Amino acid sequence: MAVKNLHAPPEALLSRLAPERQAILAQAASLAEAHAARLWLVGGVVRDLLCQAPPGRDVDLAVEGDAPALASDLAARIGGRLRAVHAAFGTASVEVQTADGATLILDLASSRVERYPSPGALPEVAPAPIEDDLYRRDFSVNALAIELRAVDGQLRAGRLLDPFGGRADLVTGRLRLLHEKSLRDDPTRMLRGVRLAARLALRPDPAAAAQIQAALEAGYLSLVSHERVLTELCLSLEEPRPDETLRLADAWGLTSQVIPGLAWSEALAARCERLLLAPGGAPAGGPLVWAGLLLYDLDAEGLAAIAARYPLPTEATDLLRQLPGLHAVAPLLTPGLPNSGVDRLLRPFSVTALTVLHYAEPAAAATTSRYLRELRTMRAPLNGNDLRRLGIAPGPLLGQTLEALRAATLDGEVKSREEAEAWVRRHAPGTPGS
Ligand code: ATP
Repeated sequence: MAVKNLHAPPEALLSRLAPERQAILAQAASLAEAHAARLWLVGGVVRDLLCQAPPGRDVDLAVEGDAPALASDLAARIGGRLRAVHAAFGTASVEVQTADGATLILDLASSRVERYPSPGALPEVAPAPIEDDLYRRDFSVNALAIELRAVDGQLRAGRLLDPFGGRADLVTGRLRLLHEKSLRDDPTRMLRGVRLAARLALRPDPAAAAQIQAALEAGYLSLVSHERVLTELCLSLEEPRPDETLRLADAWGLTSQVIPGLAWSEALAARCERLLLAPGGAPAGGPLVWAGLLLYDLDAEGLAAIAARYPLPTEATDLLRQLPGLHAVAPLLTPGLPNSGVDRLLRPFSVTALTVLHYAEPAAAATTSRYLRELRTMRAPLNGNDLRRLGIAPGPLLGQTLEALRAATLDGEVKSREEAEAWVRRHAPGTPGS
């Protein structure tokens, strides 16, 4: 993602925001003035304006003043909802519905300095001017701010702050930390960094590379809670190219400290490539499918270790439990297998797991996608009530007959209600005519 004009004036950058966002920020700026506070658009959102990247859902605002008080007035002014107010931390969010039905989240935080009492611990914070607030940030490309003003109700830009040369780093593709203790203070910055590097094609500068190396050797990541690491991993799975993030994480030496047993490989790259090149008709991806594809080569023990380490949502634990089974069924999906056989093999798996199988095993892809598209939801022409009407008593036999009838339907032996009724009479003992 190239920065086309490094010296674009801040006013021109703000004009890249959607008009509705500009109007909301103008309201925020005029309220800030009434609060005698200075308001700054800050962090990744400024970076994205420079790169002309698609806007995120969240807009980060730094307030030189009382952020929760400003957020409360702003929510009232724009008909938004005030959330996550932490007076002690000077933070609050305003959630507002935009005209297109989407939700815009404005995160307001009083500008502050942070002090990290020990590696990986949460910081102690104190109010401070915006310049100090930028110093607490992770990378030069995120330590950017544009002052927001309102003139006659219109959004206007004040100064653009770029104290660490973030704009130049975006142009040259450099990932630069702001000070030498940055990763000791917050080791999750390595995970944020690898994500950003993959997204924006950045490379750590020599100082950052050395700091990453030292932080990994010191084992700082192990001092971070599993919850925080998991949050970062989930964000990586929401990137357009989670595979690229993993490739870089491996090159940096990060992967083994976060997911032991996982490593970048040619086979893994090929699987991801198939998902990335999938035409419109192929099963869709999503964070869970990416997770399944990236973890596909891990054995049951490795997968169980991940599930034990991280507080995963149920659907993720379910998927990890199913991955080893996919390896077992893949070679059984031979070309001549009847539909009922395919159904018997694939029915135990979730749609997500089957989507993983589709991309992980090219030889099984056609059968898997046919199963997902056509067979999975195919029903027999008769249901349990129909079978009872035909004289089969409720009980195991009824279940077995329904199963066998569905198999016959899948294999094309039964195509209509009449054929199904005849089939039942032929196959179920005790029915009239059997
Ligand atoms: P994305 O596009 O991935 O949302 P972002 O940079 O906007 O990226 P956020 O997590 O929303 O990411 O954070 C907003 C800003 O807060 C960042 O740009 C950065 O300036 C700062 N920030 C967030 N997390 C950290 C951290 N762990 N250490 C230092 N600064 C951080």
